Amino acid sequence: MVTTIYRNATIFTADDAGTPGAPGARAEAFAVSAGRFTHVGGLEQVREQARAGVAADGDEVLEVDLGGRFVGPGIIDSHTHLTTFGEAVGKVQLRDCRTLEEIRQRLLAAHRADPRTPRILGAGWLFDAVGDEHPTAAMLDEVLPDVPVYLDANDLHSVWVNTAALEEMGIDAHSPDPVGGRIARDAEGRATGMLYETAGRQYARNFLERITTPEDQVRFLELAFAAYLESGVTTVTDMAMNRADVAAIRALVARDGGLPFPVTAHMIIEPGEDTAADLAGIEEIVALQQEIAVGPEADWFRIAGVKFIMDGVIDACTATMRAPYADGTNCDPIWTAERLRPVAHAADEAGLQIAMHAIGDRTSEIALDLLEDCAMRRHPRRHRVEHLETVTEETIGRMARLGVTASMQPVHCDPAIMDNWKAVLGDHRSEEGFPWKMVRDAGVAITLGTDAPTAPHEALPNLYIALTGGSAMSPELPPYHPERAFTPEEALTALTAGGAWAGEMEHLRGRIRPGLEANFLVLDADPRREAPEALLSTQVHSTYVQGVQRHRR
Ligand SMILES: [Zn+2]
Repeated sequence: MVTTIYRNATIFTADDAGTPGAPGARAEAFAVSAGRFTHVGGLEQVREQARAGVAADGDEVLEVDLGGRFVGPGIIDSHTHLTTFGEAVGKVQLRDCRTLEEIRQRLLAAHRADPRTPRILGAGWLFDAVGDEHPTAAMLDEVLPDVPVYLDANDLHSVWVNTAALEEMGIDAHSPDPVGGRIARDAEGRATGMLYETAGRQYARNFLERITTPEDQVRFLELAFAAYLESGVTTVTDMAMNRADVAAIRALVARDGGLPFPVTAHMIIEPGEDTAADLAGIEEIVALQQEIAVGPEADWFRIAGVKFIMDGVIDACTATMRAPYADGTNCDPIWTAERLRPVAHAADEAGLQIAMHAIGDRTSEIALDLLEDCAMRRHPRRHRVEHLETVTEETIGRMARLGVTASMQPVHCDPAIMDNWKAVLGDHRSEEGFPWKMVRDAGVAITLGTDAPTAPHEALPNLYIALTGGSAMSPELPPYHPERAFTPEEALTALTAGGAWAGEMEHLRGRIRPGLEANFLVLDADPRREAPEALLSTQVHSTYVQGVQRHRR
């Protein structure tokens, strides 16, 4: 057995005797053996302990000089969607294309690189790049007349397709516009290549989902894992898995004997026919959870609980607010309290962690009513509320009292994407969003994530926003209420130990501490000492999972 001592680094352990959110202790070196941290502390002390530990059977001790770099626990992305993120990673990226010609050249290059691919999927194109004209199928047909092309707009609210794609979807002059969407047409009613809002989802998205194979799903997972490792992420919590996602995880474990890093999942459950159907859904999840807990996946994959999507988003005025939006509208929650109560109780009773997507300030009240109910019925579990973009001080106080985790995504309040968010709220609420400081001051357990692919998955820009309230996309923009920002220690702890706590895996990972999995990342910049701007130009130097280097720049 080899013991490796990592030295000459500035180390952030996130360790503070188990208190979530507390600043971490410091160490000079640590030793790793059999995938776990074995010793952490001063260099001489770690050397002595490591040598004493192996002297008996003459095993080897190696030393790795980390060149004075920063080392922290591997990042835990506490809220992601692995397969949809991986699918997005695999698309041709068009966000930086400034002209139609650039878009066309990039698509053509992708086609030439892999001429046998049955269709070309792209993402991130900007209307500005196409100029004053509306995007059309003909613009794409000129370079790609035979291969179907599907291009998601940057805001994910419309899809631009070519004629071959219209044909394979079966869209013609008789195809109806779905409720809430529109097929762009010429004077004769023929589709011209743009599918707006629900037309994009109901035609393009559904068509592509139907032809997605289990092999595709596995490939999406591989792309997601690789992208995360590059970003220093060593564990994720998937916040809305379905059966197909679970099957892909299991296929990957069956093929490779494990995953690139451990995954915890919350299974999505949406309102069914009636309460009996919802309760049957909980039973199915419990059965699946138990099956996996004793299966070959158990070391790498765990179903932690369920996810209820309680409302929509503020940008579309579909999050449920205490008071109406600026235009006078409001929106009912997707799950009413009456409907959800028996289902939440059943989940709690079965030992499942409950995660509730609650963005509107009314929705988080309903979520806390239900979780308070659960807490009164049984011993406390680590239930959690996702997003909390608008939330009252009272609700935050209840979260602290009930031990409910706040799961938040700094990338969702990048000032570059907040103009519409603020406008639809239209009053004091637009300046009171994402109240991180209030959450911290109340003593609520915090975990941070990215919600990829709804926002960029990279950990360092996410950390930058947490530290500054500024924009990682357009750093020249003024920050959104920087007085809410985290200190580096607070943010790093929330991104590591906080995620482990939220996922009930603090006994396995999340800190640099003897006995835990040796998951860590190495950075050129120390987020505690350098200006946060350094995080926008720094790449992760290397990423280790269970003591094995899984990424190196
Ligand atoms: Zn999500």
